[in-house]
Amino acid sequence: MSATRRTALITGITGQDGSYLAELLLDKGYEVHGIVRRSSTISGNSRLDGIYQAPNTPDQTLFLHYGDITDASMLTNIVRDIQPDEVYNLAAQSHVRVSFDIPDYTGNVDALGTIRLLEALRAADCNARFYQASTSELFGSTPPPQNEDTRFHPRSPYAVAKVYSYWAVVNYREAYGLHASNGILFNHESERRGETFVTRKVTRAVARIAAGIQDIVYMGNLNSIRDWGYAPEYVEGMWRMVQQDTPDDYVLATGEGCVIRDFVQVAFEHAGLDWEKHVRHDSRHERPAEVDALIGDASKAKEKLGWEAKTHWRDLAKHMVDADRQLLDDQLSGRHVRPDQD
Ligand code: NDP
Repeated sequence: MSATRRTALITGITGQDGSYLAELLLDKGYEVHGIVRRSSTISGNSRLDGIYQAPNTPDQTLFLHYGDITDASMLTNIVRDIQPDEVYNLAAQSHVRVSFDIPDYTGNVDALGTIRLLEALRAADCNARFYQASTSELFGSTPPPQNEDTRFHPRSPYAVAKVYSYWAVVNYREAYGLHASNGILFNHESERRGETFVTRKVTRAVARIAAGIQDIVYMGNLNSIRDWGYAPEYVEGMWRMVQQDTPDDYVLATGEGCVIRDFVQVAFEHAGLDWEKHVRHDSRHERPAEVDALIGDASKAKEKLGWEAKTHWRDLAKHMVDADRQLLDDQLSGRHVRPDQD
């Protein structure tokens, strides 16, 4: 290990953002540690396939540790052992609709998990800089455009839990002088987005329908407006927040709203398909309380971090369709082979 190499700890490293952030930090020369949940299969780590390093790799820079954000003693032990320079708390039960089904668990992970990790830093006498994955869902029913001064009105157990974590971060910053920042990120997607999130559900269905192995996809509310950016650009924004001399809270967004129906239409048309022939409504996918419109104003991030979203929703939709068609093609032809993982 290099004496000057910075060390980062990422919770949620196996997720969409965690995998992109790990790649970014490894590229920047960090030693990266990630917490992974034990699973009965290794398929849960597939987003790390491109960077996975076996434990006996010479000059290893990526280390995976079994753990869980609900396990306080584990968090304290890992922070004490690693003494990271930066901690990125991305672990979450991140699905808003599912949070209505498992509200208690969502609160344990998305709210109390953050306090556990902050307390682990204190218990392990670790002065790491801290990033918290906050969300545009904090704003809920407050109309757009939303920025750092917009009132929170959460509309789901997920958002309520994330409000708790947002304020925990502000509180630990004020109470203990911790270098802790909230990234209030609007939706950001990619070919690594979980398959049950609306964008990926659509682009994956488009690929399967175009290949003739599916005909119908069932969707919930198509009328909501979201501000969708490209995930790799957003993890760069996270890193920039942590590099600031003074901790603070920042919105990251494209500033452009898109009605879900329009995303669906562009995605289907990109594959030469008529969406109205293949999309059916299913109320099971609707939330008990909807968030009608999220459109972010990221001017503070542009001014202070020099960060700006480059990819907007139309190009994102087309990119994700292309990626899902390629992935399906590789799977059907047997070219998609995963490396063995220890
Ligand atoms: P994902 O759902 O793709 O990833 C969530 C990660 O958290 C996974 O690695 C998951 O592990 C892990 N995790 C879940 N529960 C636990 C637990 N109990 N203990 C430890 N790890 C756990 O989310 P994203 O990558 O999209 O999002 C990253 C963070 O940013 C989340 O906190 C999310 O709420 C937040 N966010 C995301 C936005 C987006 O548009 N993507 C927008 C705003 C905020 P496993 O793989 O085992 O399930």
